[in-house]
Amino acid sequence: MSDLLVRNVALPDGRANQDLLALDGRIAAVGPALVAPAGVPVLEGQGQLLAPPFVDAHFHMDATLSAGLPRVNRSGTLLEGIALWGELKPLLTQEAVVERALRYCDWAVAKGLLAIRSHVDICDDRLLVVEAMLQVRESVKPWLDLQLVAFPQDGLLRSPNALANLKRSLAMGVDVVGGIPHFERTMNDGAQSVRLLCELAAERGLRVDMHCDESDDPLSRHVETLVGETQRLGLHDRVTGSHLTSMHSMDNYYVSKLLPLMREARVHAVANPLVNITLQGRHDSYPKRRGMTRVPELLAAGVNVGFGHDCVMDPWYPLGSGDMLEVAQMGLHVAQMTSQAQMRACFDAVTVNNARILGLDGYGLEVGCHADFVLLQARDTIEAIRLRATRLAVVRRARVIARTPAARATLDLPGRPTAVDWTRP
Ligand SMILES: [Zn+2]
Repeated sequence: MSDLLVRNVALPDGRANQDLLALDGRIAAVGPALVAPAGVPVLEGQGQLLAPPFVDAHFHMDATLSAGLPRVNRSGTLLEGIALWGELKPLLTQEAVVERALRYCDWAVAKGLLAIRSHVDICDDRLLVVEAMLQVRESVKPWLDLQLVAFPQDGLLRSPNALANLKRSLAMGVDVVGGIPHFERTMNDGAQSVRLLCELAAERGLRVDMHCDESDDPLSRHVETLVGETQRLGLHDRVTGSHLTSMHSMDNYYVSKLLPLMREARVHAVANPLVNITLQGRHDSYPKRRGMTRVPELLAAGVNVGFGHDCVMDPWYPLGSGDMLEVAQMGLHVAQMTSQAQMRACFDAVTVNNARILGLDGYGLEVGCHADFVLLQARDTIEAIRLRATRLAVVRRARVIARTPAARATLDLPGRPTAVDWTRP
């Protein structure tokens, strides 16, 4: 295990001129003017922001970087995306899925994204993508924590062998129980799927993360069953409702009852700003709904909310680069979270809040935590979001594993300075 002294950094909580000493892969001290034992390598922070690594609480790594295969999504809708993925599935090979996922993990590491929860489609009886993602989880382990969710994309009850395949996937080592209640044939089937899946998770001591109410239908209320089952089975802190976009369109009175119940059951919420703003509201003319769930209201109610990337260059979304600051920036805009405290909360939504959702061990910048962090070309978390700051250095277990040169531009204009500095308003 490595040692490292990081000198002169700002921290997300606002402390400036701090040093951080890491010994044997863990944080040993944080404070001003630390002295390191002889021979410990030094990373000069130059007053820039040192943050814990980015965490993505919602991703689909089995589909990533497959955009255009076997054809592009012409309508751009969620449902054509699901149909397109269905066309692609029989053509997939384990090698190609692994190769694309590893390439994405390289992108992620370079962007300081060192923990990802990925849903894995278990509906194909071959479980080829499950095998592929387990292989990827193992090979990236030294530098990236990959948590896998058994995800019945075509519906747990709607797809013939989904329940059996889901159990097989868990037996193979998939970490988390997934679901998609709004995609089942009926509201009753949706609720039944939530009950079955929560019981399965309770029996096995696993976490739950469901695609829940990814719909503009205000009557899609599976989150209510998810919360009820969490309470009934004592799954507090272990259950996540992903997307929850129907909440955008729900009746305000109903939401005022729902949010305290979510808080009581300690159910986490994940919004996926880039994909929600792209896929929701597609059946609207004008005005068009944004579709993202009620992030500021959930936070105000005491619910832990994370932001996920969801998709990068796949059947549902043609853009993305593994940049969680892009996700935070979009979430901030869509939710209109522009106060200073709210902007800082958007940074938390791609770091500490997501770490809680994944249940990551030893995450953070406190003494005793893993020496995992990212040095950003920004002075604070708000500036990091504004600039989608360059990741100057990415550190895992006290070892620098990625570097990017600082972003600089030079001007050649008569009577003007030659250097541009975006950090000085
Ligand atoms: Zn998803």
